[in-house]
Amino acid sequence: MELKSPWIESFIVGSLQMRCSVITDFKTGDTIIIDGGEESDRIISWIENFEGTGPDWSTGPKSLDDMQKRGVTKRNVVALVNTHAHYDHSGHIPYFIEKYGVDWYLHKDDFFLQTLAKKSALSRGIIVPEPAVADKLLEDEKVYNFGSISLKNFHTPGHTLGGCSLLLSVSDGPDHIFVGDTLFAGSVGRTDLPNTGGDFTVLSNSIKTKLWPLEPDTVVHPGHGPMTTIGVEKLTNPFVGDSSEENHRFIGKYL
Ligand SMILES: [Zn+2]
Ligand SMILES: [Zn+2]
Repeated sequence: MELKSPWIESFIVGSLQMRCSVITDFKTGDTIIIDGGEESDRIISWIENFEGTGPDWSTGPKSLDDMQKRGVTKRNVVALVNTHAHYDHSGHIPYFIEKYGVDWYLHKDDFFLQTLAKKSALSRGIIVPEPAVADKLLEDEKVYNFGSISLKNFHTPGHTLGGCSLLLSVSDGPDHIFVGDTLFAGSVGRTDLPNTGGDFTVLSNSIKTKLWPLEPDTVVHPGHGPMTTIGVEKLTNPFVGDSSEENHRFIGKYL
């Protein structure tokens, strides 16, 4: 089911400036958190009471009053979802599970990586709790209904073995895709990180077969750095783009 005028918030968290995305359905108040990696207190305070520094980017209300005027009395967190298991994306999942008691979704090929989250955070001087264990699997090309919010998952390995990209279909505007560290504005995820299964050929193939077929105006929310669109990256990305004239003709109108 498509969402109308989605309420999306980006929280840029931790020393690696990772993007945690929060999506809320105005009709029901149902809310999901994608990549709850760090700064869980900040994110929870905002979701619950609009207190604290709030998101770095938002399409939604900025106060309780404003939210209630738009028809949502209370937000209801229904699921936690991860693009992959690097600690900057998953380190604070145990705190979110403790607070909300909801299912956590991850691709099974990142389960091993997830067991290392605490250790790899510590190697950068970051303290996170004992790693959470995901209780629900993300599978390729499957649509998930998290409360009233539907996301289609694409398995996009290459940065990690279990890397995923989650597509939010929107009825009255461009779709949005949450790609973790698979694709960045003008770049792609690293493929040299330890214990991760990174592979540039696999990554490039994931992007070209799973992401490039999406609508060119689809808004891309990467795990780090600015947002972009599928069309811009397909045409201009120096690692996986294709600036051929034919592609330019097709996509140029969306730039
Ligand atoms: Zn990563
Ligand atoms: Zn990352």
